Amino acid sequence: MSLMFSSPVVTPALGSFTFSSRPRSNYIVMSAVRSNSASTCPILTKFQKDCDTPTPYLRNVANAIADDMRDGLAVEGGGDLEMILTFVDALPSGNEEGLFYALDLGGTNFRVRSVQLGGKKERVLATESEQISISQKLMIGTSEELFGFIASKLASFVAKEKPGRFLLEEGRKRELGFTFSFPVKQTSIDSGTLSKWTKGFKVSGMEGKNVVACLNEAMEAHGLDMRVSALVNDGVGTLAGARYWDEDVMVGVILGTGTNACYVEQKHAIPKLRSKSSSGTTIINTEWGGFSKILPQTIFDLEMDETSLNPGEHLYEKMISGMYLGEIVRRVLLHMCETSDLFGHFVPAKLSTPLALRTEHLCKMQEDNTDDLRDVGSILYDFLDVEANMNARRRVVEVCDTVVKRGGRLAGAGIVAILEKIEKDTKRMGSGKRTVVAMDGALYEKYPQYRQYMQDALVELLGHKLASHVAIKHTKDVSGLGAALLAATNSIY
Ligand code: ADP
Ligand code: MG
Repeated sequence: MSLMFSSPVVTPALGSFTFSSRPRSNYIVMSAVRSNSASTCPILTKFQKDCDTPTPYLRNVANAIADDMRDGLAVEGGGDLEMILTFVDALPSGNEEGLFYALDLGGTNFRVRSVQLGGKKERVLATESEQISISQKLMIGTSEELFGFIASKLASFVAKEKPGRFLLEEGRKRELGFTFSFPVKQTSIDSGTLSKWTKGFKVSGMEGKNVVACLNEAMEAHGLDMRVSALVNDGVGTLAGARYWDEDVMVGVILGTGTNACYVEQKHAIPKLRSKSSSGTTIINTEWGGFSKILPQTIFDLEMDETSLNPGEHLYEKMISGMYLGEIVRRVLLHMCETSDLFGHFVPAKLSTPLALRTEHLCKMQEDNTDDLRDVGSILYDFLDVEANMNARRRVVEVCDTVVKRGGRLAGAGIVAILEKIEKDTKRMGSGKRTVVAMDGALYEKYPQYRQYMQDALVELLGHKLASHVAIKHTKDVSGLGAALLAATNSIY
């Protein structure tokens, strides 16, 4: 696996991976689990078996995702994947000029960004951004509260602007690219209604409403002279922002709190697109998190799903994205605790608390290189009130590894489904053309084992030859730039 560093963008990309034909390595797996593996534990053994994703099974998953993609392109609601038309036909060219804004709402934080674009040569002249966390209360409150809060933060962001650095052309309203990363039925580039909340949001009175109107109204109420010019999601934003710097980018994938993927599709391959012109390309927002077939669901996944805000839905997202991996592990550990004396004779209250273990903790535990797995011990103690001996610590790491391996490999299968769809229509990779998947999200960025498992699955399913033309490029935080660029592309001026 070669690691190349890409040229700095607005926020420097950390690097990108290209696939070489080197045989796959098990190094990370072995270092995480260790050779003197925990003595047998029936619950763990069964869990590992239930989570297993051998290559032929993974191939079936990739094929099933591809089938749902095709069905979703044929008719509205044809498959688990919504395959939403984004109304983004033109990706940024580099010629965009002027001051534009981006607002990204879709997870634990929202981000605002200003970008002064200087055209082909000068590109990004200036940019500022700010990240603001969204309280649990706002996530399940009313739309007035949520959008009022966002508009007020946006207004103070604009008020702090240094006049010399940013220049709004006279007579113009400020224009904003709104990244709204929830399933939206898009009706034009600057309007769309929310289909359903995901990722722990449940703001009342919003489903079926035009989210752009909600934001425009809130901005007006706060005296902010700004309008939404483009409504996108984070996958589209990532794809557009990454494409600004690299024209081989064909796919944008998010692996963070939630997950999604967008890609460049040929219009003639979209039967449900009832437009006169079937030439050219357009961006499809797959909403792949909604995929829910033939997944290796265990009893722990089922129980977690039942208590989620959207039971029975988004099962793929619940297996591969950051919001859920820690919670699955916690449920397995709780079961181990209840049915064996692995962690002593009582069940600590914290271990029974939903979301007490986060994906960040799994990552830290898998990174633990100490002889006595000291970090594993302290995370279990600090976050779950569990005192674990060496044997128990090893088992915990195995549980983490099992969940992360399944997640990473399934994410890889999804990417393969998209790449093979692109390949079928364009023969890009087959003819040796570099094809880039722009990737964003802290799960991908910060969890090396997850990344490795994902890449293993990609090579296993694509084969070394095709995979050698694929680059997974970590494009951190370009979705804001992408949204601002799409606001520029769709400016009313
Ligand atoms: P969002 O998806 O909310 O826009 P991010 O891309 O920052 O935001 O993703 C945040 C998610 O990434 C967290 O919910 C968590 O699941 C996961 N994550 C954050 N930090 C780490 C880490 N160090 N290791 C593994 N996963 C992490
Ligand atoms: Mg995000």
